[in-house]
Amino acid sequence: MLSELHKKIHTMLQARFGFSSFRGSQFEIIEHVSSGKDGLIVMPTGAGKSLCYQLPALVRGGVTVVVSPLLALMKDQVDSLQEKGIRATCINSSITPSERRQRMMGVIAGQWELLYVAPERFSDEFIAQLRRADLRLFAIDEAHCLSQWGHDFRPDYLKLGRVRQALGDIPTIALTATATPTVQKDILSVLRIDPSQVFITGFDRDNLLLEVKRTPRNTDKVREICNIFDAQPGSSLVYCATRKNVEKVTIALRERGIPAAMYHAGLEIEERVEVQEGFMSNRFPIVVATNAFGMGVDKHDVRCIVHWEFPGTVEAYYQEIGRAGRDGQDSKVVLLYRDGDRYIQDFFVRSSYPPIEYIRMVWQQLQQFDENTLFIRLEELAAGLPEDATERTAGSCLYVLQRAGYVRRIPPSEREGRVFLRTNPPTAQPKGIRGLVYRVLREYFDREQATNIQLRLDWFSKSLQLSREQLVAALRALEERGFIVWNPPERIGGVEILKKGEPLQLNEDELQKRREQELAKITQMQAYARSACRRRYLVEYFGQKADWERCGTCDQCRNISENYAPITSLQQEIISKLLACMARMSQKRGGNRFSPTLIAKVARGSMDVRVRRFHFQHLSTHGILKEYSEGALLSLLKELNHVEAVEEHFVTRTIDGRECTYAEFELTEKGRSLMNRRIPDFKMNFPNVFADGSKKNRRSKQSKVIPKQHIQQTLLLKLREIRQKLASLHDVPAYVVAPNKTLEDMAVHCPTSKSAMESIYGMGPGRIQKYGRPFIEVIRTWQGGG
Ligand code: ADP
Ligand code: MG
Repeated sequence: MLSELHKKIHTMLQARFGFSSFRGSQFEIIEHVSSGKDGLIVMPTGAGKSLCYQLPALVRGGVTVVVSPLLALMKDQVDSLQEKGIRATCINSSITPSERRQRMMGVIAGQWELLYVAPERFSDEFIAQLRRADLRLFAIDEAHCLSQWGHDFRPDYLKLGRVRQALGDIPTIALTATATPTVQKDILSVLRIDPSQVFITGFDRDNLLLEVKRTPRNTDKVREICNIFDAQPGSSLVYCATRKNVEKVTIALRERGIPAAMYHAGLEIEERVEVQEGFMSNRFPIVVATNAFGMGVDKHDVRCIVHWEFPGTVEAYYQEIGRAGRDGQDSKVVLLYRDGDRYIQDFFVRSSYPPIEYIRMVWQQLQQFDENTLFIRLEELAAGLPEDATERTAGSCLYVLQRAGYVRRIPPSEREGRVFLRTNPPTAQPKGIRGLVYRVLREYFDREQATNIQLRLDWFSKSLQLSREQLVAALRALEERGFIVWNPPERIGGVEILKKGEPLQLNEDELQKRREQELAKITQMQAYARSACRRRYLVEYFGQKADWERCGTCDQCRNISENYAPITSLQQEIISKLLACMARMSQKRGGNRFSPTLIAKVARGSMDVRVRRFHFQHLSTHGILKEYSEGALLSLLKELNHVEAVEEHFVTRTIDGRECTYAEFELTEKGRSLMNRRIPDFKMNFPNVFADGSKKNRRSKQSKVIPKQHIQQTLLLKLREIRQKLASLHDVPAYVVAPNKTLEDMAVHCPTSKSAMESIYGMGPGRIQKYGRPFIEVIRTWQGGG
């Protein structure tokens, strides 16, 4: 029975889709869905989600209803299915009512295998008609649109839960590339899919060699890029967060002889097309760009992607680095990390989630116009807001108003440009893309007998299979050469006021929550830079389970095998002092997190105002490491962070009316053990800025030498036995329960109470709490002669 299904699935893959094999987990998912079970499928863009409902649609027979949010996407899908001879169609606003009726009749008559519809289509009447058809599967593409927390919320998607029920609760499959746990939960609950039916797969890209370079200064970043490109020839992208930085970085690289081209949305279209095409043809191997670059670029052999600064979310980062190594070859992915770069992302979030008063002001402004549809520049709106507001802020206010249903934004792409044909064009025919565009325009004019036509760029470029940029570049060139006159649509979009005159009721809590969520996302991106295994961090971020602890290919994993060395006793001494300094600081303050600079200052014995504000100059550890530079101590703290001895937290505070975000360090449990020298053979990358011959021979004062003759050997044996038992009970290595030296110390002093345990080498409160009791019992029994 089962193998029957297997066979059918495999046959259809080849016979109907023309594919020779499945990718990743497609088969597993297709089998699941084909057998009538629900599913939520989370897979990255391009991984092949469509097949996961299209093939089951054919296996199950009858008709499958597919919900897709964008007309353009829908059209693409239907076209490519029809090309394969699969009976797919769509019903949407771009076709005439009579054609719609016709198609619906076809659906009911069983003529179509897949029916694509937009979410707003599900009126009661539409549902009633659908119920007359032989529905077997309900597929919801881009399912994140139903979550308020997704980046692309569409209220119509929320109704799909009820639609599912109204359609007779047929098997339902939801698909998305983005699913944070919150978004997933929303999808599952709205569509009533059981949480056990979630498939998250395809996020692990093992040919991307992930790396994070700590680069405190711009010069470090430039140097790193030069090194990277020296070692790794081939197509490369450098992503920057702002246009200004794209320009700065391009210049800096060119000064160092690297032939970098640049790309951002502020450049002329011709330039952008030239750079894009030059990148595709390898004429420009290196492009410095904002995230605007890459949308339409499908180059398979991008060998290297560098981020000048980190983006605001892990999702964005993943998407951008996903453009490397599509051919499956190893590719380098490097993040040039600096804590301070966070301010750019903070700025973006702040302007995307403006204060509620600003939103009210914009709503007020919009009320002053007589028309309901206005074309107003964001600039103008921003001018009516307090000084710190930018165009972006004004745009965000509109966005919030749109989400709350007060306005609808009319994107520029929905507006039309106008083309006039010149009556006496040059005699030489245009060539290439220009030629194509011109030919099609002429045909169109002939057919319509018109002198000028309105042109929707998005539709026209689609039907010619050109990118929008290519089309616009061609139109401009045709104008320049005297073939046409081209009036582009205005750059500005419009605003349609939906609830004129109504008082504004916004959910302030929600707005605040969203803002906080976005800020938290930045922190999650920063946590990537501190992760112990990069690949694991990314995979787990998307909710996929990694079946390894260490990937072995990211810088951290390679570091461990290459650069991590056991620390010397001098290094242990420096570490202990630095961590002890942190411990003392937190004792005194009652708090436990401090900025790394403050920690370094106290350890160096600085009398800085900040040190004195907390009276840290009176600590016994004040000046305990005065022979080392602040820079050295800071780099040690960073390395200690990498080995999880200190934990980095990011705090956002308002100081003098400005929100600032900075890092604070906290001593971890592991850090305490390290401080107390309780981790034998500890390995890390000790920064070499400490190299100083004069101190190498100094003996560590605190290292404890236990005279062998005082050890009770029979007790020691018993202690070793119990340690072994505890280790296997807690599933940890023996030294985690207690190192040898600790057992030896116990076998000298024979502690029989928890307080006596405290003076034993290596026994801190944690260890006493966890393992103290069994050791005490062994010692007591031994003393009792047992
Ligand atoms: P997603 O929706 O996950 O972004 P798509 O379903 O659009 O991805 O698939 C991306 C591309 O991969 C499409 O061109 C599709 O035809 C192709 N594809 C998907 N599965 C296979 C397969 N098993 N074999 C070959 N090509 C495939
Ligand atoms: Mg898709």
